[in-house]
Amino acid sequence: MKLKTAAWSVGLPLCLFSAASIGQEYPTRPVSVVVPFAAGGPTDTMARLLAQQFQASFKQTVVVENAPGAGGTIGVNKVARATPDGYTVLLMHIGMATAPALYKRLPFDPLKDLEPIGQVADVPMTLLTRASLPVTGMKDLVAYLKANRDKTTIANAGLGAASHLCGLLFMSSIGIDLTTVAYKGTAPAMSDLLGGQVDILCDQTSNTVSQIKAGKVRAIGVTSPKRLTQLPDVPTLAEQGLSGFELNVWHGLYAPRGTPRPVLERLNKALNATIRDATFNARIAEFGAVSVAPALATPEGLRGHLAKEIALWGPIIVKAGQFAD
Ligand code: ASP
Repeated sequence: MKLKTAAWSVGLPLCLFSAASIGQEYPTRPVSVVVPFAAGGPTDTMARLLAQQFQASFKQTVVVENAPGAGGTIGVNKVARATPDGYTVLLMHIGMATAPALYKRLPFDPLKDLEPIGQVADVPMTLLTRASLPVTGMKDLVAYLKANRDKTTIANAGLGAASHLCGLLFMSSIGIDLTTVAYKGTAPAMSDLLGGQVDILCDQTSNTVSQIKAGKVRAIGVTSPKRLTQLPDVPTLAEQGLSGFELNVWHGLYAPRGTPRPVLERLNKALNATIRDATFNARIAEFGAVSVAPALATPEGLRGHLAKEIALWGPIIVKAGQFAD
């Protein structure tokens, strides 16, 4: 910040000098990646892998901060209101595009109150039941739900979470409404599914592949267009007659609006190194996720996709009908 003081004293344009100096020095202290869901869940997993990469690129500590609640909107709002200095950034997924249709009084505008840094990676989802539910596939499950709709529960991470969107699509495509149980993330939701306190959960593969392989939960289907190599015996939902049910949990990295351009560029550079990193890619491949193409790991790539997804999901959510005040 020495340069900033000098700029004041000789009356040079402050913003130019301070922005350039911030860009050169940044980061000089720990950077916080806010995850708007509980620790131990899918977004947290992705953020921790990203943080390791950013830490190596920055040669500076990068910490993950969980700010869960209200389907991720509390954490997003926290970052939208944070000081725009590059020391608070946000990792959020597809929920950024569904929240505007779900919340009548959303306290932030996803397209205006945050600076997009770039897309990160795509993660598929799996529809699961507790292991003790007496069903083996979609046909069985639907028959069971028809007979037991009043006593069956579906878990999610709150209105606006990917698990909420998946559950909403599932219920609307089979025409059955179930009692929903909302958690602060799918990590606690998974604990309750394992314990048999809830019956159904649709969650990202980062949280489910190992539980499925261990036989601790029952996998009904994957939301990807093709089966996953990690789960070759789990059919797609489309294969089982649920058409229009492809759900890709795309992730974006954001900073508060007003973050200086050189800082955004530095963050984008670290993001680009991450999506090209062999260790990062191998690690996310273990749960069927893939990094985005470099053209999407850009502010334009994220902004354009977000705008398109807001337009896509709005009418689908309105049709399925489940809103917050
Ligand atoms: N991804 C969220 C989590 O990390 C949950 C969700 O989106 O459903 O808990």
